Amino acid sequence: MELLKRIEETARRDGSRSAYRSRDGEISYRDLWENSGRLAGYLQEKLPSDGSPLIVYGHKSFMMPVCFLACVRSGHPYCPVDTGMTKTRIRDIAGIVGQLFILAPETEDTGIFGSGYEVLGQKECFQAAQEGPKILNCPERNGEESFYIIFTSGSTGKPKGVVITCDNLEHYLQWSSGLAGGIAEGSVFLDQAPFSFDLSVMDLYTGLYTGSTVIAVDKTLQQDSLAMMAFLTANHVEYWVSTPSFAEVCLAEPQFDEIRLKTIKAFLFCGETLPVKTAAMLKNRFPAAKVINTYGPTESTVCVTAVEITNEMIRRGGALPVGMPKPGTKILIQPDNQEVLILGDTVSPGYFRDLEKTEAAFFTGYEGVCGYRTGDTGHFDEEGLLYCDGRLDRQIKLHGYRIELDDVETNLLKIDGVSQAAVVPFVRKGKVGGMNAFVVVDQCQIPQGFHGRKRIREELGKLLPSYMIPKRVIILDELPLTANDKIDRKRLERTR
Ligand code: AMP
Repeated sequence: MELLKRIEETARRDGSRSAYRSRDGEISYRDLWENSGRLAGYLQEKLPSDGSPLIVYGHKSFMMPVCFLACVRSGHPYCPVDTGMTKTRIRDIAGIVGQLFILAPETEDTGIFGSGYEVLGQKECFQAAQEGPKILNCPERNGEESFYIIFTSGSTGKPKGVVITCDNLEHYLQWSSGLAGGIAEGSVFLDQAPFSFDLSVMDLYTGLYTGSTVIAVDKTLQQDSLAMMAFLTANHVEYWVSTPSFAEVCLAEPQFDEIRLKTIKAFLFCGETLPVKTAAMLKNRFPAAKVINTYGPTESTVCVTAVEITNEMIRRGGALPVGMPKPGTKILIQPDNQEVLILGDTVSPGYFRDLEKTEAAFFTGYEGVCGYRTGDTGHFDEEGLLYCDGRLDRQIKLHGYRIELDDVETNLLKIDGVSQAAVVPFVRKGKVGGMNAFVVVDQCQIPQGFHGRKRIREELGKLLPSYMIPKRVIILDELPLTANDKIDRKRLERTR
């Protein structure tokens, strides 16, 4: 696989170059290759070579990329699970993955998965990466083998695992390494998104593919903008990869500009709408940097379109384009409902062990090419640039996170005493600002008023990650209905 060959090559040629750095330490290309090889050797001895996926549980330590590569090099796809997820979500994912052996390189709390699991904790992971048997050569990977599985919110209340193959990733990297005019060897990338969000693939693997250094900022550091900026300045970050929401949080800090962050060459955005105002502020604060908007779902390996946002596009106002499809990808707009269909070499073969959902969302197009129905609506302008117009379903993007409103509702209904639930988004400053949950409760079990609302939020917090908890919970005697006796969500959206 070209990605692995390139990492090995950089390790051989310039082994001391830093591959990945976070606040807890850094790892050079030489050690990344050597340690992932030893951990891979350990895994090969420990596990049958059945290609089963392995969960890697952690956040941003330098052992995370070691574990990812070790899984892949030992013939197992990995499934990244961030420490920010709730116990219930983690156990749901572990149940679907079905592998009883887990890598947890940042914790000794190996009980989080429940009984029956064998968890390789921090110390043991580190030891196996240092002392494991060396795998001598890198096995050739069949392009159709899975490289990673990333779980996203699913409308039934259970997450679904998107399988990305070695070929999918390789095709993506051939293109992403040419973004922003081409990524030079030895560049520096910002890594901000959790590894369980596929935006992180853009910086981690485009970085490693191009022999660059990946600078990871953990959740705690992200909450202190000034400290984070000092960290990024000290590490000479050149390629900023994040959601627009994250850049907006940074823009609230007046010192977020080219005087402090001198080395920024480009902002690469994906995952949600890039508001024209955000692009304008970035152009103003970083006149020499490129602002690039990209679009795509996890099901088609990070993103499949890109465009550099020009001053002219900003001046025109209105929605910004998301760009033109990459080579190897075709985008079609369904004439009847304007749905965006993606066909091409980065489209996933489907959801892990979920034939029903796979058949509903994926299809085979011309000459056997894989296709995916995005659920997004869009159109092309006369220059061939794609614009995203909205959604056909009840999926939203909140601060870059993908959320199925039905997922939140299903989990609300799991709470004892909640008999009905409707979750609706609200809009703030022209984009989704959050969710409100309207519930009907059994008053014998859940009190009305503050205590009841608090209890529901707390119970939901045990089931869902914090970004999926509605801002407000409103208890009603009954939910309003439309003339057809459906829940009147439009009316709830107008309710303050
Ligand atoms: P995810 O799988 O989490 O990356 O989410 C994919 C979804 O995010 C897409 O189907 C779109 O709805 C939305 N999305 C991604 N990139 C953009 C963009 N540049 N502009 C608008 N929406 C986007």
